[in-house]
This record gives sequence, C-alpha cells and structure tokens, in this order.
Amino acid sequence: MNPWIVKAVVLAGTAVMIAIRAPHGRRSRNVKVATSHKTPLETGLLILAWVGFFVPLIWVASPAFSFAEYAQGAVPVVAGVMCLVIGLWLFYRSHADLGTNWSVTLEVREQHRLITQGVYRRIRHPMYSALVLYGVGHALVIPNWVAGPSNLVAFTILFGLRVRAEEQMMADQFGDEYTAYTARTKRLVPGVW
Ligand code: SAH
Repeated sequence: MNPWIVKAVVLAGTAVMIAIRAPHGRRSRNVKVATSHKTPLETGLLILAWVGFFVPLIWVASPAFSFAEYAQGAVPVVAGVMCLVIGLWLFYRSHADLGTNWSVTLEVREQHRLITQGVYRRIRHPMYSALVLYGVGHALVIPNWVAGPSNLVAFTILFGLRVRAEEQMMADQFGDEYTAYTARTKRLVPGVW
C-alpha cells in the first residue's frame, strides 16, 4: 500500500475530527460549569489523549518512528478506513445529541440535562465508542507499531480510568433517572457491554 495514501487518510480523518469538535469546544466556553470534577488524574488523562492524538501526525510529517515501520496490505487499510468512517460518524452524532451538555472533562453544566435519546438510547458512552473505533481504524491503517496503536492505547487508558468516575458523577447529579438509564443501556456496544 502506498504510504502517501495512508498518510492522506490519517490527515483527512484528523481534519474531520477537528472540524466536528471545534464548534463544541468554542461553544462550551460560554456554558457555565455548575460543578467540576476535574481531578489531577483527569488532567493527566487529557494530556495522554493529546499525546495519543499527535503521535500519528508526527508519523505523517517526519521519519521519527521509521524504526517501527512494517509492511502493510490493502485488507487492513480498507477495514481501518471503515472503522474511521463509522467512528467519525458516531463522533459527530454524539456531539450533536449531547449539545450544550458536552464537556471535554468531568463537569456538570448549568441546566445540564440527561440525554438518553439518539445515539445515547442504547449505550451510555457513544462518544467513547467512536474514539475506540477511531483508534482501531488508526491501528489498522498505519503500518507502524508506535504511531498505529497510539490513539487506541491512550484512549483505552483514558476510558478505563475515567468511566467509573463519570458514571458516579452522573448518578450523583441525576439520581434515579440515571440509575434507570443505566439499567436499560450498555456502556460501549449496544446489547453487549
Ligand atoms: N461518556 C459520554 C460523554 C463524553 S463527554 C460519551 O462517551 O458519549 C463527557 C461529559 O459528558 C461528562 O462530563 C458529562 O458531563 C457529559 N455526559 C455524559 N453522559 C451524558 C448524558 N447521557 N447526558 C448528558 N450529559 C452527559
């Protein structure tokens, strides 16, 4: 597989991801935070997510990780592009459904509403499912042992160390409404887990 095709795919995916997130990042600055649960662990996890996000871009732009390169076939690239496309679609939908309730970290906004519809109807963390799909997509398309799994590893750690605290925060905020929502939904994969 021509490495420039893969590099173009990585750059296009990154551009789409930024285009989806940017307006929500800008808008969220104007929505007051009612309670913040941003611990030092959360700060560390956000830094890790940024590192995971940038390593593939360093791979695109420089030979820094050339020691970890391997030969790439067309099948994983096609499968990876499918993961990226579905992941980005879900990333877009979950931002649209969360609206002003979205935060990059653990925060409850003023007039925060519990969203249980759209892509939140069957799973509680569609945005995290989207990021897992995006990470799997990168791991499949990027023929490099460092840059390929970078997003997936960073994001798996973030999810693993955040999800309980996030669900506890939501349960404290929404009480029985969240307990009932938890009982009828899964975390990441509809009907499975
Ligand atoms: N875990 C969710 C949201 C990620 S954004 C997902 O993967 O789709 C993180 C912020 O979203 C949290 O700080 C919380 O304030 C908010 N949030 C998470 N689930 C929510 C829901 N069902 N309704 C409203 N806000 C939610």
